[in-house]
Amino acid sequence: MDQGKPKPEQQGEGGDAALSFHRLAFENSSAAMIGVDADGTVAVANRAACRLIGDDPRGRVFLSLIREQDRPGLDQTIAIFLAGTDDVSVLRRDANGVIHLLRGDGQGSLPVEVALSRAGPRLLVTVRDIGSRIALRTIIENMPGAVTLFGPDLEMRACNAKLQALLGFPDSLFDGGLPSLETLLRYNAERGEYGPGDVDALVAERLRQASNPEPHVFERRRTDGTTLEIRGAPLPGGGFVTIYTDVTARKRAEEALQAAMAESERVRVHLHSVIEHLPQGVTVVDPALDIVVWNQAFARLLDIPATVMPPGEVVPYADAIRFVAERGDYGPGDPEDHVRQRVELARNPSQHRFERVLPTGRIIEVFGRPMSDGGFVTTYTDITDIRASAQQLERTLALMDEIISRSVIAVFELDGDARFRFASGIERVLGYEMGEIDGRSLLEFVEPAARPVVMGWLAGDLAPGEKAVAPFRCKGGRLAWLELSGYGVDGGFRGVATDITEKHHQDLKIKTLVERLEQSALHDALTGLANRTKFTQRFDIECDRLVRSGKPMSLLVIDLDHFKTINDTFGHVVGDLVLKETAEVLQGSVRATDLVSRFGGEEFVVLLPETDMEGALTVAESLRGAVADRKILAPGIAEPISVTGTFGVSSMDRDELLALDDFIDAADRAAYRGKRAGRNRVCAATDDAA
Ligand code: GH3
Ligand code: MG
Ligand code: MG
Repeated sequence: MDQGKPKPEQQGEGGDAALSFHRLAFENSSAAMIGVDADGTVAVANRAACRLIGDDPRGRVFLSLIREQDRPGLDQTIAIFLAGTDDVSVLRRDANGVIHLLRGDGQGSLPVEVALSRAGPRLLVTVRDIGSRIALRTIIENMPGAVTLFGPDLEMRACNAKLQALLGFPDSLFDGGLPSLETLLRYNAERGEYGPGDVDALVAERLRQASNPEPHVFERRRTDGTTLEIRGAPLPGGGFVTIYTDVTARKRAEEALQAAMAESERVRVHLHSVIEHLPQGVTVVDPALDIVVWNQAFARLLDIPATVMPPGEVVPYADAIRFVAERGDYGPGDPEDHVRQRVELARNPSQHRFERVLPTGRIIEVFGRPMSDGGFVTTYTDITDIRASAQQLERTLALMDEIISRSVIAVFELDGDARFRFASGIERVLGYEMGEIDGRSLLEFVEPAARPVVMGWLAGDLAPGEKAVAPFRCKGGRLAWLELSGYGVDGGFRGVATDITEKHHQDLKIKTLVERLEQSALHDALTGLANRTKFTQRFDIECDRLVRSGKPMSLLVIDLDHFKTINDTFGHVVGDLVLKETAEVLQGSVRATDLVSRFGGEEFVVLLPETDMEGALTVAESLRGAVADRKILAPGIAEPISVTGTFGVSSMDRDELLALDDFIDAADRAAYRGKRAGRNRVCAATDDAA
C-alpha cells in the first residue's frame, strides 16, 4: 500500500464543536463509510474504508469499487433507495449473489454487506466485511455434525443442512420456516428418542433445561441403535448452540476396545494361573530390573522366603539376588560384588543356560531369554532326578555294551529288505566283520531250507519275547544254530541273535535219549512191540472210543506151540530169533489201528479196535496161517524153522465192558482150550460160555 494513511477530509477552519465531533466519529468509526456525491463519485471515505479497500477511493466513481457483475444490481438498489423515503437500506446480496468490494491493490475482492443511508446531499454507504461470517457459515455447513442455534426465546435461528439428515427430521417440520425448540422436542419425544414416558412431561423437562442452559456433553442412544453425541453451549446473549455428532462408529470401536481389553485381562489371568501351576520356576524381569512376574515354584526351588519375595508383589531383582548371594549360592566373596555383577549382566541380557547346585545338593537348570521389548524371562528347572536317571541310563548302556562284548550275542537292526542297518557283536556270531556284512541281507547267511521261515519271523511271525532257532552258515563254512528274537521297527526289524549251536546239539542228544527212554518204557526190548504199559494206555483210549461209538472191540492171545522144544532143539538165541520173526509176521499182517504187543514169554496179545467177534476170528485165522507159513532161517541151522500158534479170541461191546485182565483172561482160557484140542487153531471165548 503505497498510498499510506488517507488524509481526513478537510472541512475548513472554524467548524463548531458538534461538527468537529461528527467528523471525529466518522473518521474513527470501525465501520467503513463512504460518502458519495449525486454524480456517483466518492467525496469522502474514512480510515476504515481506506483500510478495507486498501486505497484511498476519493474521486473515483463509487460503483467502480464494486465487482463488475454486482454493479447493475447495486446501481438499481441505490436508485430505488434514493427515490424512496427509507432512512436506511441494508443489502447483503443482490440478484447475482453476495456483493463484492474490489481491493485497490488488485488483490481480489471481499464479500461485503452494504448499508445505504442519507447524509444531506450525499449518499452514505457503510460497507461491512462479511468474509468471516461467510467462512463461519461454510464451516457450519461442512461440519461432520449437525448444528442448531436457538435464540433466548427458544426459536431456532439457524441450523445446517445436516440437522434434518442426521436427526431424521422430516421436511414438514421446516415447512413454516425454522421450527421452534418445543416443536422439535415434541417430535422427538413422540418417536421415542427420549425413552418411555409422558410426552408432555418429557418436553416440559427439556424446555426447562433449555431456558437456563449450561454447557453440556452427553450421548444419546437412538431407537435405531446409533449413538449421537450432543454438545451444547449457552450463548452470551441468551440462547444456545447445539452440535450433534454421529459417534456410532467411535462408540462401537470403544466397545470393541473394551471387549478386547476384557479379553486380554482374561488371558492375563489365565496365563498367570498357568505360570503359577508350572512345576518350573519362572521369573520375568522388566527393563527397570524389577521381577514383575514370578511364581511360587521359583521361590520354592530357590528356597527364598516370603519375607524376601512376598506373594503377588513386584520385587526388585537385586533384592532376590542379594538374598541368595548372602546365603552363599554364588560361592565365596563379597555378596555385594555378586549382586553388582549380576545386575550388570541383567542390564544387557543375552540368552544363557547354566546349572546351579544349591546348598541342598539339588541341581537347578537356569535358562534365561531376553524379551523383544527389553527385560528377560528366566525358567528354573529342578533337574536333579533327570540327571540321576540320565546317569542310570548311561550306566545301563555301558553294562549292556559290556555284556554284548563278552557274550556270543549280536544286536542288529535290519531294513525292510532284511539288510543290515546296524549290528553290534555280529563278528562273534557269524564270524564276519561289520564291514563285510554292511548292506547285505541277513537271509544270505541263513541255510536255504530255513529262509522262508526266517523271512516270516522278520515279517512279524515272532510274538514279542518269542525265540526261534535257525541254522546259519558262518564265515569259513561252520554251521551255527542262532536263536533269534526281536520286533518290527521302522518297516524293518530290530533283534538279538545268540549262538546256541552247542546247546542245540546237546538238545538233540537229550531229545534222542528221551525218545529212547520212552521207547524202552513202552516197548518190548526183544521184538520192539508194545509192552503191557503201552497196551494198557491204548486199551483205555479204545474203551472210551467204544463207549462213544458203540462198536465192539476184540482181543487175540497167541501162545506159540511147543516153544520149549524149539529152545531145547536150537538154543535160546534161535528161540529169540523165532520170537522176533513171529512178531514181524504179526505186525505186518494187521491194520495200522490194531496193536500187536508182547508182555513177555512166547505169548502175544493183539488189540483189534472196532472189531466184533466175527471179524476177530477172521483176523486170527489169517494170522495163524501167516505164522505157520513163515520159514525162519537161523544162522548155522540148515533147515528153515517153522512155528505155529494157538489163538484165543475174546470180544466185548458197550453193554458188557470188561477190565483188561478179564478181557485177556477170557482169550487165554479160549487159547487153553485150543491147546487141548490139538494146537495151531483159533478158539473163541464165546464157546467157553456155551
Ligand atoms: P505149549 O505152549 O504148546 O503147551 O508148549 P510150550 O513148550 O510152549 O509150553 P510152555 O508154554 O509151558 O513153555 C514156554 C516156553 O517158552 C518156556 C520158555 O523156555 C520158553 N520161553 C519163554 N520166554 C522165552 C524167551 O524170551 N526166549 C526163549 N528163547 N524162550 C522163551
Ligand atoms: Mg506159553
Ligand atoms: Mg507155548
